[in-house]
Amino acid sequence: MIYLDYTANTPASKHVLDTFVETETHCIGNPNSNHQAGKKANEYIQKTTERIRELLHLSDTDEIIYTSGATESNNLAIKGIAEANRHTGRHIISTSLEHSSVSASLTALQMQGYEIDLCPMDRHGKIDLEELEDMIRDDTCLVSISAVDSELGIVQPVKEVEDIVRQYPSCRLHIDATQAVGKIPFDFSLGDTISFAPHKFYGLNGIGVLIRHNNTALTPQMSGGKSTTIYRSGTPAAGLISSVTPALEDALTNMDASMEYVTELRNDLYHRLSAYPEVRINSTEDSIPYIVNLSIEEHKGTEVQKYLDDCGICVSVKSACSSDLLPSKAVMTIYRNKKRAYEAFRVSLSPLTTKEEIDAFVQAVDRLLRKETHES
Ligand code: PMP
Repeated sequence: MIYLDYTANTPASKHVLDTFVETETHCIGNPNSNHQAGKKANEYIQKTTERIRELLHLSDTDEIIYTSGATESNNLAIKGIAEANRHTGRHIISTSLEHSSVSASLTALQMQGYEIDLCPMDRHGKIDLEELEDMIRDDTCLVSISAVDSELGIVQPVKEVEDIVRQYPSCRLHIDATQAVGKIPFDFSLGDTISFAPHKFYGLNGIGVLIRHNNTALTPQMSGGKSTTIYRSGTPAAGLISSVTPALEDALTNMDASMEYVTELRNDLYHRLSAYPEVRINSTEDSIPYIVNLSIEEHKGTEVQKYLDDCGICVSVKSACSSDLLPSKAVMTIYRNKKRAYEAFRVSLSPLTTKEEIDAFVQAVDRLLRKETHES
């Protein structure tokens, strides 16, 4: 099997697995319990939190909330901020490039009477800052934007967005950094809340992080007792939490070398695909090299995915969590071409991807297109 879907999930590293096993072996208590076993598990969590604080240059007043993944972190931040601020404003701005956990949270709020506006993007897929300045109002309670989107991999000007948001004291900024963390340098002092999940950078599934800056008011979305935080009830998963540290440490240490290697792979892939006029590249010059979104003329993305799967190659149509039956909203936003949006599929690369795997992918595309020439 050739795996080219690292944007959806990555394999857990040995460092991560060892830390998980070590913590689970030594921590048998509930971290919320007030006895030795509970206190020991709680200490493991606190140690992890301190290390994350150090790695991400967070201050003592920043809270690190552990969730089940980026979906839950996005839900908690978006619904939590909106609900906590419902008396001061019910207007929210986001974009059409957001992950379904953001867009569906916004739809849920819209059904409760919140007004949702999507800010137009420029032709490179970046948020149009002038439009944002025009749209934002005194009753805007939240702007929610991804630092890098999951379909096209476009890097957004988050700092510039923050500068605009800060002119409106009652407006909060949520940043979905799920596809940025571990891949590109990211300034964790930005925003009021930041979400990410280590399973995108060789960590474990089932754990997510939400960073809460500036004592941002947040209504908990989970009913239950007080845990290590009032914002997320339930028994904290000490093993999963402790596994965040090695994933982050390795991702940050290897970030530059990974970027260099993956950029070379991506450039080679682009060069080789340029021989096929039927293949269109949807990712833009502002996309990270890890995400290569393509369309093959006259082939729906779902068909290409199935064909490649039959060839033993795993790629994705849109992001793993969105419906395959609809055209790619991200591709529609930029190219305004429904056919191209239906044809879109995503190849995602990693430092684990080999040149031979890229060869196999290009050969499979070649076979698909040659088969057609022979048939027609
Ligand atoms: N946001 C973005 C940008 C993502 O790419 C993803 C994962 N596809 C998520 C949120 C949701 O992450 P999780 O699978 O951890 O819930």
